[in-house]
Amino acid sequence: MRSAWSESEAAGLSPLDLLVYQSRLVGGEPALALWGGGNTSLKTIERDFTGAERSVLRIKGSGADMKTIGRGGFPGVVLDYVLPLLDRDDMSDDEMVDYLGHCLLEPSSPRPSIETLLHAFLPHASVVHSHADAILSITNTRRPYELLAEAFGEEVAAVAYRRPGFLLSKEVAQSAQTGAAVRGVALLNHGLVTWGDTPREAYETHIELVTRSEEFVRTAASGRRPFRRSESARPTPAIRRRAAAALGPALRGLLRHGGVLHFEDGDEVMRLVCSPDAESLAQVGAATPDHLLTTKRTPLVVDTGDVSDTEQARSRLAAAVEEYARSYRQWYEHHTDGAHPMLDPYPRVVLLRGVGMWTAGANARAALAAADIYRHTIDIMAGSQALDRYASLSLQDAYDAEYWPLELYKRTLAPPERELSGRVALVTGAASGIGRAIALKFAEEGAHVVVTDVHAAGARAVAREIAERHGSERVTHRRMDVTDEESVREAFYAARLAFGGLDVLVSNAGIAPVGAIDSLELADWQRSLSVNATGHFLVAKQAVAIMREQGLGGSLIFVATKNVPAPGQELGAYSAAKAAEAQLARVLAIENGPHGIRSNIINPDAVFQGSRLWSPAVRRGRAQAHGIPVSEVEDFYRRRTLLRATVTAEDVAEAALFLAGDRSLKTTGAMLPVDGGLRDAFPR
Ligand code: ZN
Repeated sequence: MRSAWSESEAAGLSPLDLLVYQSRLVGGEPALALWGGGNTSLKTIERDFTGAERSVLRIKGSGADMKTIGRGGFPGVVLDYVLPLLDRDDMSDDEMVDYLGHCLLEPSSPRPSIETLLHAFLPHASVVHSHADAILSITNTRRPYELLAEAFGEEVAAVAYRRPGFLLSKEVAQSAQTGAAVRGVALLNHGLVTWGDTPREAYETHIELVTRSEEFVRTAASGRRPFRRSESARPTPAIRRRAAAALGPALRGLLRHGGVLHFEDGDEVMRLVCSPDAESLAQVGAATPDHLLTTKRTPLVVDTGDVSDTEQARSRLAAAVEEYARSYRQWYEHHTDGAHPMLDPYPRVVLLRGVGMWTAGANARAALAAADIYRHTIDIMAGSQALDRYASLSLQDAYDAEYWPLELYKRTLAPPERELSGRVALVTGAASGIGRAIALKFAEEGAHVVVTDVHAAGARAVAREIAERHGSERVTHRRMDVTDEESVREAFYAARLAFGGLDVLVSNAGIAPVGAIDSLELADWQRSLSVNATGHFLVAKQAVAIMREQGLGGSLIFVATKNVPAPGQELGAYSAAKAAEAQLARVLAIENGPHGIRSNIINPDAVFQGSRLWSPAVRRGRAQAHGIPVSEVEDFYRRRTLLRATVTAEDVAEAALFLAGDRSLKTTGAMLPVDGGLRDAFPR
């Protein structure tokens, strides 16, 4: 590992900015810190609210991610209040959190890290703590003390595993003083602590010790395979991904905790899932308590057999998930003191032999975190295997980590879920107009969105917009021609692989050819039928297949038109095809009610904003049909509504949101007008 410190970048920074700079360097290195793991601090002199000078510890706030942290991420803790605690023998977690709450320099700052006392009790100005992979490869073995001594001599002291808190903080402070040579403390099954008089010194020592442990592991590993190789041939990436896509929705349904999946089949993952060692290694446990909170104690390893036999693979998967949940329940019951109800008993990491790794989370961010952490766990295991044998926390320590009251409490502080959190929605015709507004609305409400359109660049632009606002993990995009079955199949395949399934389909793509029937070309008629009728059939067919595999219900939303109940002249091809769409939606409601899949229709009218449907030709045609100038078309449509309203794409998106979420759980087969009120178009 290389030091990334740049003296020119660090020059002239204030102490707090220097801490931010150092922390980002640590957080930006995935082999040191992942998804909020690790923490840093700096002891400074600051003025309190009375103007008096105080010795203050600036420490990372609880849960903050060092990769992106700013000044506000470091609450100040007044050291005069904290240091007398060194005289105490013990302190409960609750007492400690409560006590630290009284020590804040600014009462409104974020909660300081649970490892605050560990930083406070060390006398050095700057402290860096990480969960470095290479250190864990050494500590997570059967003979950590011996190996640490071999790697570092007396430069690194070791502290036995203990859950973070008051006692661990005291033990680290004591170990740091065990000899003049000690430059860092390794916490077994947890990580590394280093220090210095300056942020640079603490950082450079950290990088140096981690680099030495990397070299130590590399030397031991040279010429040896960390995991045994499988006899059988590895399926090609194309076959693996087909298999993963075929199993994703079933797995998502089996996990039942409401959330999305993430799939990976990179080299590290394949090395493990193709090894005969996978089963036994995976059972050993998580690398650290921090990792365990995201991945659970163990992954589920499943041998689905011949991947081309989907039915057999699904039934093996179901049996394996059930067995995992049963054994989790047993583990819980054996170790619980009854204080906390059981959390969900399902795996977060599922290793499919020969196929790859699915991870699960309440949302894509959490599923991605589980994948990142497990990928690093594979590296850690490989290192430990090279040195000795991978070892982990005891079953009781693992229980105490997962059911740590402080962590359980932290979860209750999370912001309330949005209406579509953890849901996956695919929107057709999403590059512009109503489809775009729906995709943006759903994303804002927490959904994971598959943006599709026949205009590839438009779909990409909308996906980029969502990624910028909500994170790139929340969206994917595909060019999809709804009239081409292969193109439709590929887009749904993308949804299966990106998020593991689908909860909401918004079938919106449409075109509006204009012309009286006696002068309409057959090609225009057929084109309208294939987009406005067959297109809905093709996407609904794929969506229903995924939803039934999941067994979690679902919502199909068909964007039709007021022309279904109230057709207009010269829109024969459009109105007839749209009537077929509406009838299709109703039959889907009838056929899929028993599966909890709802199917509803929205009838918008005159949504001009950003619409491709209202092409200049359509506007001209409509102006002619109503005997008005083209410039008055929009106003004409507004004036003819009962509410004298201009209907916007956002109005339609609101209706779609209602039909997508649980507020409309008892509504299916319905037709909802969003047209400003048109007497002729009342559904009946
Ligand atoms: Zn830690």
